[in-house]
Amino acid sequence: MLPRPGKHRDMKDTLTVSARTRVPVLLPLPLAGAYDYAVPASMALRPGEFVSVPLNQREVVGVVWDPPAEPEPNPVPDRRLRPVSAVLPAPPMTANLRRFIDWVAAYTLSPPGAVLRMAMSMPAALEAPTPQAGWILAPPGGNSRPRITPERQRVLDAMRPGQVYAGAPLAEAAKVSLGVLRGMAENGLIRPALLPHRSRFSRPDPEHPGPALAADQAEAGAALRAQVTARAFGVTLLTGVTGSGKTEVYLDAVAECLRQGRQALVLLPEIALSAQWLERFKARFGVAPALWHSEVTSRTRRDTWRAVAEGDAPVVVGARSALFLPFPDLGLIVVDEEHETAFKQEDGVVYHARDMAVVRARLSRAACILVSATPSLESLTNVEMGRYAALHLPQRHGGATLPAVEVIDLRRTPPERGRFLAPPLAEAVTATIERGEQAMLFLNRRGYAPLTLCRHCGHRLRCPNCTAWLVEHRAQRRLQCHHCGHAEAPPAECPECGTANSLTAVGPGVERVLEEAAALWPDARRLVMASDTLPGPAAAAEAARAIQDREVDLIIGTQIVAKGWHFPHLTLVGVVDADLGLAGGDLRAAERTVQLLHQVAGRAGRAEAPGRVLLQSFSPDHPVMRALVSGDLDAFMQEEAAMRRPGHWPPFGRLAALIVSSEEEREADRTARDLGLAAPGGEGVQVLGPAPAPLALLRGRHRRRLLLKTRRDIAVQPILREWLARVPVPNHVRVQVDVDPVGFL
Ligand code: ADP
Ligand code: ZN
Repeated sequence: MLPRPGKHRDMKDTLTVSARTRVPVLLPLPLAGAYDYAVPASMALRPGEFVSVPLNQREVVGVVWDPPAEPEPNPVPDRRLRPVSAVLPAPPMTANLRRFIDWVAAYTLSPPGAVLRMAMSMPAALEAPTPQAGWILAPPGGNSRPRITPERQRVLDAMRPGQVYAGAPLAEAAKVSLGVLRGMAENGLIRPALLPHRSRFSRPDPEHPGPALAADQAEAGAALRAQVTARAFGVTLLTGVTGSGKTEVYLDAVAECLRQGRQALVLLPEIALSAQWLERFKARFGVAPALWHSEVTSRTRRDTWRAVAEGDAPVVVGARSALFLPFPDLGLIVVDEEHETAFKQEDGVVYHARDMAVVRARLSRAACILVSATPSLESLTNVEMGRYAALHLPQRHGGATLPAVEVIDLRRTPPERGRFLAPPLAEAVTATIERGEQAMLFLNRRGYAPLTLCRHCGHRLRCPNCTAWLVEHRAQRRLQCHHCGHAEAPPAECPECGTANSLTAVGPGVERVLEEAAALWPDARRLVMASDTLPGPAAAAEAARAIQDREVDLIIGTQIVAKGWHFPHLTLVGVVDADLGLAGGDLRAAERTVQLLHQVAGRAGRAEAPGRVLLQSFSPDHPVMRALVSGDLDAFMQEEAAMRRPGHWPPFGRLAALIVSSEEEREADRTARDLGLAAPGGEGVQVLGPAPAPLALLRGRHRRRLLLKTRRDIAVQPILREWLARVPVPNHVRVQVDVDPVGFL
């Protein structure tokens, strides 16, 4: 690192704002664009450099951006520019990350500074790392001969000349107290010295012996390795049934990337996955990768950010935000479970990490691998159009068979009154537990009951801030809104008619299934897996361990049980309500239900014992149930495609949603109506709405939606920009733009 000018505060007086140079500086704030600053004569600034600049009364850290392609029409005159205060001692942001930020901003219609903020999430990492102090042997000689006690001798024996040792480990190695070291320093036997900077990230070893790949795995692995070796952009969709060994195959590509000396990024949807996944990684490469997600401590995040920027973290595994890390030389991005909606970020900058991963790979000339047992129609269509390559693993590894899937018709064999498990499912669970195997009941709903109703007047308890019922969490004696976090104690009487003891729970959540399970199988060891009962990766890891070690007979879980887990003793999966995801007007409801339930089903029978899956449904003839029973997801996806193609629905057309919201219902309506009146039109362009959003009230804001739909060959961004520019939006009304919407609430 070059020596940098000193602290900015002292510099200001000595600098004159000369007319010589100006640079645009992008700030991590939702401003319209970069601001120009004057470059002090003492500074040479290149784009990408992190700098501190004055903004109003503050100092803000930003990035020297690239000069605009065309000169601005009315630039601030040079003499009015304020100077850059200081350059920060951090590796400059690479050109390809800057292009990525610009690209994401333009695509999502977000201020570039808001995107930059995601790439600067660890401001502390921009400061020079503080070196740690340790001890070094003092050179021999000197007049006085200090006393050498046995303790001191042990320290001297533990040290080699010229090497710096950290205090605590040295004291421990010599079995002495830290005070002994200080005494030796006073007597001139050892001296304080700075420890050399040592990376806390070990290099994964690509030659570490991994499992021998089966023939079809080896073939897919070779194709992926070739793509990495080409050091060029390309996308491959890696598909294969659950348990076919896709992970081992893409880790092979990660190994090749390491051999190439480039960095690799693996994006995972749910960080709960990481425990088992990390074990796999360690088994393959000997060491753990760097991790990036919200639960990593800020100190580790700072070190990780810095290590990534310095090329010191060869492999990063993370949630979607890892896409904005400062990799200087990214050679591979893997998006595992690419169909997952968790890759879509819904607030702030609204972006889809899978799609943006492809963009980042293109800008970095990197390979991109999208992985799924149940790929999205988007990715399948990209394969069909020849934009992506495809690789498929047809069999489960080690000859394990796919589970047999059956539907329990709830119209013919309903559960007893007040119960939720139909007799055939209950019997299957009993038999499984009696055989000493594990069973899982899946219901994608947290809490005890999704609705509380007054038996007397029919009143339903709803959230005061949202268009949503309050969900009962009986164990915590609370009613909760799952949208805004509102919580209240269950009232003793109906708030509407005042009748006492009239409130009754309607429908099941996992807690209620647990209650039923406790009655049916009192001796079974039961475990609930839901995001609120397993907060964080550590708890999820412990649950996974308990299941693997057969400390659990029956697992009751929400969607967090669906993802990636490998439970060899689990042979029965019961889906309590297979129809649950099909309600509502979501474009992808059927696709998503098939994906989720197929993933859940894939947890069964992953080892020798064959698996069985039972789906409780009121509509056993629905295409979703038929696809799950037959296992022919290809045919299902082709039907989906046939339904979406004629209307130009994604991926055969483009969508963007505008969500208008305000605390004042009239204001939201007015702006939505103005947008509707100014709606763009023409060949291949259509606007639907405005209409109240399904969540018409969310966190106290009234919401209206408009949907822009275009043919695939028409980009939505210029249309949106022009449209939004034509409609004035009052201050307290917000218009959120969601390009390629995934949720329609
Ligand atoms: P997928 O990602 O396709 O669901 P995994 O990669 O998780 O499949 O593999 C399923 C199981 O098979 C895992 O326990 C994995 O360790 C094991 N496995 C996969 N490939 C091999 C192999 N070549 N040798 C040994 N075990 C393997
Ligand atoms: Zn609410």
